[in-house]
Parts: sequence; C-alpha cells; structure tokens
Amino acid sequence: VTEMVALEETVFRSKLPDIEIPSHLPLHEYCFARAAELPDAPCLIAAATGTTYTYAETRLLCRKAAASLHGLGVGQGDRVMILLQNSVEFVLTFFGASFLGAVTTAANPFCTPQEIHKQFKTSGARLVVTQSAYVDKLRHEAFPRIDGAARSGDEGSVLTVVTVDDATSTPDGCLAFWELVASADEAALPAVSISPDDPVALPFSSGTTGLPKGVVLTHGGQVAGVAQQVDGANPNLYMREGDVALCVLPLFHIFSLNSVLLCALRAGAAVMLMPRFEMGAMLEGIQRWRVTVAAVVPPLVLALAKNPALEKYDLSSIRIVLSGAAPLGKELVDALRARVPQAIFGQGYGMTEAGPVLSMCPAFAKEPSPAKPGSCGTVVRNAELKVVDPDTGLLLGRNLPGEICIRGPQIMKGYLNDPEATARTIDVDGWLHTGDIGYVDDDEEVFIVDRVKELIKFKGFQVPPAELEALLLAHPSIADAAVVPQKDDAAGEVPVAFVVRAADSDIAEDAIKEYISKQVVFYKRLHRVYFTHSIPKSASGKILRRELRAKLAAAATA
Ligand code: ATP
Ligand code: MG
Repeated sequence: VTEMVALEETVFRSKLPDIEIPSHLPLHEYCFARAAELPDAPCLIAAATGTTYTYAETRLLCRKAAASLHGLGVGQGDRVMILLQNSVEFVLTFFGASFLGAVTTAANPFCTPQEIHKQFKTSGARLVVTQSAYVDKLRHEAFPRIDGAARSGDEGSVLTVVTVDDATSTPDGCLAFWELVASADEAALPAVSISPDDPVALPFSSGTTGLPKGVVLTHGGQVAGVAQQVDGANPNLYMREGDVALCVLPLFHIFSLNSVLLCALRAGAAVMLMPRFEMGAMLEGIQRWRVTVAAVVPPLVLALAKNPALEKYDLSSIRIVLSGAAPLGKELVDALRARVPQAIFGQGYGMTEAGPVLSMCPAFAKEPSPAKPGSCGTVVRNAELKVVDPDTGLLLGRNLPGEICIRGPQIMKGYLNDPEATARTIDVDGWLHTGDIGYVDDDEEVFIVDRVKELIKFKGFQVPPAELEALLLAHPSIADAAVVPQKDDAAGEVPVAFVVRAADSDIAEDAIKEYISKQVVFYKRLHRVYFTHSIPKSASGKILRRELRAKLAAAATA
C-alpha cells in the first residue's frame, strides 16, 4: 500500500482543475466557435500588406478554400501539402482541408526538392499549395508532372499545384488560389462526418536528432491540445479578444500552428502573420498592431536581447513572452526582460508527438501563479506527466532527472506508416516517451536538462550542453555558442564549444575556458573552444549539433 501511494505521488498532474474538453467537435468548428459572437473582431492580420480579416471573413474564406479544394477533387482523408511561408493562404488552406475532413502536411519551403519530395511522398499528398517562387522545386524529376487540368483518376501520375501569388503571374500548369476562392461556392460544401480519431494534420518533427518523422495528429487530439492551453474558467495560457498574437515562428512547425494560430483563434484573439523573421519588420509590426502575446524561440530571444534597435520601438503592448522549442537559459531571459519590463516571461515545453504541449508556465494563467526562472511551467491539465530512469524505466521521484513521459488525450495517434517507431515511443499504457531528460521540483515545475541523445558523457559523468551554452551566452563578449562532444581517448567524450565572438570582441580561448571552469564542476569544463561565424540552427529554433559534431569528426580525420 505504501508503495502504491509513493507511485501515485510521482505521477504529476496540473494544479489547475481538469476541464470539459469538447473533443467531439471537428477542429475547425472548435477553433471558430466564437466567430458567430465576434464576427467583426480582427482574426488575421497580414503584417506584410496590412490587410486585416475579421472572424466572419476568415471563416467564410476558409469555407471557400474548402469548396475550392473540393472542386479539385480533394475529399475526406486526402492529404494536401502546404509549402508556404506564414500567410493568410496558409491559414485558409489548413482550415479549408479541415472542413473537408482532409489532412494538411506543411513543409519548410526552404527545404531542398528532395526533402520536400520525401515528405510529399510519405504523406501521400496529391495537391500542393505554394508560392510561384517554389514551383521549380516541385518540377524536380522525383515529382509527378504538374497539370492543373488533372481530374480524379489521374492520381499519382500528375500533380495539382495551386499558387497563392497574384493570378497574373501563375506559373505554367498551376492554378491561382484567389481565383479558385473567388469563384467557390461555400454553400456547396459536402456534408462530412468527422470523428475525433480522424487525422487533421501531419506535421513532420523538426529533425534535430535524425530525419524528420511524420506525426499523425487528430481532430480530437488537437482540440484537447488547444483546450489544455486556452480553455476553462482559468486558462493556463490566457488569451482573449483584443489580444494580438505574434505569428513569426513558422506555421509548418507545430509550436506556431498550435500554440499561436489555433490557440489564438479559439480565444477570439487576432493573429499577426509575418512571412519570415526580419528584425526591423517584426519590431515595426509589434508596435503598429500592438502585439500582446509573443511566441518566441531561444535564437529569437538571443537576437532580441543583444540587439540595440529594440530601444527605438514601443513594445509596451507585450504582456506575455512565451518561449519554447529549445532550452532557454535564465541569463538570456534576464537580458531581454530588462527591455520589455512589463511582460511576463515564461516557457512552454512541447514536442510534435505530444500534440505538442506538455507543460506551460503557470504565470500565463488568468489567475497566475509564479514560475521559477528556467522552468518550463507545470504539466497541462487533463494529462499526466512522469519521470523515469531512462535505463531501467523505473519511476523517479521529485527533483531526480530522468526521461519525461506524458499521457493524455492530446498526444499523437502515432508516426505515419511506422508502427514500430510508434510502439517504441508510446508504450502499451499510453505513455509517450519524450527522449528528454528533466525533473519536476517541489512546486510541480518541470525543468528540462537536455535531450537523452545530446548528453555528453565524460568518464560516465553526464554533461548537458544546454547548461554550458546558457553560461556562454551570458558572457558579454559572446554573441552565440554551442557545445558538443568531442571524442577523447581518456574520457570517452569531452565537451567543446563553438563560439561566435560579439562584434569588436577578441576574447581568447583560455579566457572562455576559465570563465566556464569557475562556474562548473570539473567534468563539465570545456576542453576546447572553436571560434566560428555562426551556429547552425533549424527553422524551429534548435541548434543543429549534429552539423557541428560532423565538423569535428571531419577535422579529426583530415
Ligand atoms: P526530431 O524528433 O525529428 O529529431 P525534434 O525533436 O527537434 O526533431 P520537435 O518536435 O520540434 O522536433 O522538438 C521537440 C523537442 O524540442 C523536445 O523533445 C525537446 O527536446 C525540445 N524542447 C521543446 N521545448 C523545450 C523547452 N521549453 N526547453 C527545452 N527543450 C525544449
Ligand atoms: Mg523529437
């Protein structure tokens, strides 16, 4: 009996009470639930052009996009690929497909034709919505021939491509998005019956640890994932009408899609869409549209914290800065906090497979409670979180680092066409194993140490690169940094750093090594510092350590 009690105590739940989740609703109905009540409230703001769409306009255009897709033969269960920067058309295509019971898979338009083709093929997409500029990538030999006149029966042999640019510049064989939408009849949408278990989105994980994996997310799962953040009497991430959410992180990544777009719509807030990250335009947009909720990733925090241009803009509208997707050190947060003093800073911890949010800063709640610096908040409601020994699988208690596992209605259905990988990730009891090392402290707060795969093993001692990177970034002479393992005969692996010096700095290797040595236990000391011009990062905001490891390996064999 005592053992049972101890076990239950180390399965963590939110301090906020569970809520009713309307999981029976299709995602589009759930997200547009407030459109009838707020028809004239701003919904989408295209920052590049200044065009604003109200809730009524956005919902109508989504239904027209659905009718257009339907006219091109897209039906329930079909896959549509989105190859777009953040834009109104991205949102319309996403919800347009959802209205039909079709599924979208969004890819990074900067990927190579081969990479895009891989996702296209794995997902089984039969139509692509894109910009003229990317059509050449789809003309790569791996793809079927582009033919706008394709009709059902031609599946597989030809590809339908819809471009969102000005209709006068539509590339050969492609169809113009806005022409289709203008002539679409939303009243002719087919009646579809969507079950909560039906897929709605097929995001691909960001590929930090290997190849990106297709993740099947369902209507019911996404409704739950959004509800856990913004629903209930005391929403964990409090957004409301009048709020303006910054949508600069790419919508092809689940953080932006779910925690920015879907959450903002559900809450009746506006979404300011920025096609790409450009510091001046972003600060301009924040000032002009009075952005209140800013979702960011650590590289963006770094760019903001170390950029003097911030002083020239009025950023006083921001009340929430939510960082996610990668570890964020407290030193960096403090540097940015000084520039946006009125805002609440905090983190969410997410993973594509987890639908995506596992934990969220409680200081973002309607009735906030404090969070400690460096914490990723507390587990979301209607879910359970536990920490297990990665080697033995045994449950660990508070303050003990181990692999974080999550269970709840929001997690993925599985990896696309990969039952083995699914079974390795979600166990028979429904626990999703994250591959992240972290712990839960006495106040239920979740702290991420690093990924299991990224830990450096110095003579058996574990060195989390994220911890050393946070210290390096706090140094005024360092603009950016990354830590990776280097093979070592005596220790197995030793931590070494790649460092980008701040402009005008000529800081030397020894000074950096000494700066770190003074702050860490002996086995975390840096053995080498390599100066470089930039640190490779993914579009989702993560350091691509494998590129740096490859650089070291190449140097070692040269
Ligand atoms: P792949 O699985 O294809 O290698 P990925 O894991 O980078 O790619 P994502 O789903 O984008 O794909 O990233 C999820 C991971 O991001 C988490 O497992 C975790 O390692 C990291 N992460 C997310 N939020 C945080 C956070 N707040 N602090 C630290 N790490 C985070
Ligand atoms: Mg992953």
